[in-house]
This record gives sequence, C-alpha cells and structure tokens, in this order.
Amino acid sequence: MRIPLIKPNPPRLSEAADELRAIEDRGIFSNFGPVNSAFEHDMLVRIFGGVGACMTVCNATIGLMLAIQQAIGNRPKQTRYALMPSFTFAAAAHAAMWCGLTPLYCDIDPLTWSASAADEERLLAKYGDEIAVVMPYATFGYDIDLARYEDMMVRHGIPVVVDAAASLGTLSAENRGFGTGFSGWVVFSMHATKAFATGEAGIVYSGNEACVAQLRQMCNFGFGAPRTATMPGLNGKLSEIGALLCRLHLEHYEDGMAHRANMAQLYRDLIPGLTFQLARDHRQAHQFAAALLPEDLVASRSDLATALRDAGIGSASYFSPHLAQQSYFAEHSVWDDLSVTDDLGGRVISLPMFDSITPAEVEEVAFVMNREMARLPHMPMQRPVRTTMPHSAAPALLEVAARL
Ligand SMILES: *Cc1c(COP(=O)(O)O)cnc(C)c1O
Repeated sequence: MRIPLIKPNPPRLSEAADELRAIEDRGIFSNFGPVNSAFEHDMLVRIFGGVGACMTVCNATIGLMLAIQQAIGNRPKQTRYALMPSFTFAAAAHAAMWCGLTPLYCDIDPLTWSASAADEERLLAKYGDEIAVVMPYATFGYDIDLARYEDMMVRHGIPVVVDAAASLGTLSAENRGFGTGFSGWVVFSMHATKAFATGEAGIVYSGNEACVAQLRQMCNFGFGAPRTATMPGLNGKLSEIGALLCRLHLEHYEDGMAHRANMAQLYRDLIPGLTFQLARDHRQAHQFAAALLPEDLVASRSDLATALRDAGIGSASYFSPHLAQQSYFAEHSVWDDLSVTDDLGGRVISLPMFDSITPAEVEEVAFVMNREMARLPHMPMQRPVRTTMPHSAAPALLEVAARL
C-alpha cells in the first residue's frame, strides 16, 4: 500500500545501543527492573500529573484480566456479567471470560460511539447484582465521561474497569492524561496499532495507589509474601527491553499526537459526506481516522474499500463485525437490543492515520473517497438486520442458571 491504514512508529531500538548495553551490564531483564520503574515514574508525572499510580503490563489484554480479577475479588458469588459495549475489540470480552464472567452487551451512543448511558442504566436496573463489573470502552481514544462512572461506582457499588486501549495521548478537559484521578481501573495499550505504539505493552492506571500496589503482586504470580502466592495471579510483567521502548517513546510522542489531531481535522474538512465522532476541544489520540458512511452507501462499503485498495490506500472497518456478531462471543454472551451498534457497525470505515502521514496524502485519500462516494450507487436506506441471540446460546444460559 502506498498509503497504508497505519504505519507503526516505535522508537528505533537499533539507535539505543547504549541503553541496551546498560541493561545487559546490569543483568536485570524483568521483574519491574530499573528501566521499568523509571518509565512508570515518568509516565505518572508526565501523563497523570503525579496523581494515583500506574503499572506496566506485557499487553493490555493481560492488564484487563488483572484489573477485572482484582475488581471482582470482593463481589458476591452470584455476580456473573461484565457489562460492556458490543462495539469494541475482542480483547475486552476475552478478558472478562478468562475471569469467569459472561459478557453482557449494551448499546452505544450515536454521537460518541461509546457505551450509552441510558442503556447502561437500563441494564443495571434489569440485572442489578448479577453484574460483576462495568467495562466501558473509551472508543477510538474518545474522552468518555469518567465522572459518570465514578458516580456509578458509588450508586451501584459495582466496580468499573475502563478499556482505554487506544487512549494514551488523549487529554481530559483539565488538560491531564485521560483517566487521571479515576478511582477505578483504566487500562491502556501500547500495541503497534495504537497511536502511542511501542509494539507490545500496556499500562494499568488507578487513582487508588493501594489498588495498583496489590495489582503488581497479582501481576507477579500473586506473590504477596516472598515467593508465596497469597492471591490470584499470573505473569503479566513487561521485560526491561520492552520498558526501554516505552521510555524512549515517552520522550517524543507529543509531536505525533498533535500531528494526528491536525490530520483528523483535515479529514473532517475534506470529506463532508462522512459523519465523524463528536469532536472535543481537547486532544484525542487518533489510532486511525474513523468515520460513518451515509446510510444510502452502506451496501457499497466493500466496493469503496476495493476502490481505495486499487488506488494504493489501506482501509478497514473497526469494529465490524461487532462482538455480538462474532460466532464465539455470540455463543457465550448475552444482549437484547443493539440497534445503534448495528447501524453504526454497518456504516463505519477506518481511513489511514500515522505519525508521518502528510496533508497531501490525506488530500489524496479524501479525493478518492469523494470521487467514489459520488460514483457508487446510492441505495435507498435499508434497516440493517438486527443482531439477535442465536438459539444455541440458550443451553449456555441454562448452564449458567444451573450453576446458581
Ligand atoms: C488494542 C485493544 C485492546 C488490546 O490491547 P493489547 O495491548 O493488544 O492487548 C483491547 N481493547 C481495545 C478496545 C483495543 O483496541
């Protein structure tokens, strides 16, 4: 592809020979070593204004598993659902399922594309104490309303683990890193596909320092006493070399973030026929340029992708199919009405975004998009097929009921 969908830009390890040699000379390669500790400290100060605590993990999926496991530790036995939007990445549902929970999908808001507040409240009322954890997704780095979740934790006594996988680089209205001060859990990814990319790594942040201190033990086999497991655990640690990549990246990620924000605005200006996520005044980390096709072009989405590919331009349609439309999750999850998710999932398209994308390249993508959107047949709007629960999910539900 001449203009790929993404072009990961991690720091160049080949140019960090001195730092690599220092790790070798020190002989410490993992277990929250000095490079990792220095990175966590810098991250906390530079992104979270020194408030709360953060811990590295080898990737965000493991980070979610650890956070969920800790969050549900004190929940009553009958709790079994993880309330999350279906419009998200597979990792969220997998992490909940590894913790023994059943994903319960809520619908999304048509403007922010993140969990609908009204639908979350409806499901909290309907399922009540059966919900073990609420797992909102900060969609494509969007600054979701964390004050609302803070309030939810107090009102319902249900823990909230935020999937903020794509949000490193997003700022809050207070100009702090997204998540700053939140007393639940906020999990970030530094996977190669994110705006803040190092390859494989993640961060779990919490405004509650004690929470992160215990999570660090869970992340190291649950060793609460020397080499003795005193709590659930696994190995989720980041290597010193992985931490070095993170540390180097933290030095100059700001330029890429600012550039991505400018290019996202350029897409908005140049392709008026698309609908974009509600814009904020403060910076959002843009993983790619996500947009919605007009309803009368839904049937032409794959033709559009083909035309882009023929022009040397990469594209995708995250997150379509959404979770409830993926066979494994359909078999093992619960939902009722996902109307907005179905509509949005059918219309979403992801366009190229990377640190080095030029205005000329964005103009080229916009030119092809505008040309094809004018040329492709516009079909009268058809209601998308609703994603309903498969009959095969019934035995799984009975099985859950039988366990009670
Ligand atoms: C990328 C992503 C993850 C997983 O992050 P990893 O670091 O690759 O494990 C989880 N949730 C969402 C929404 C993501 O986009």
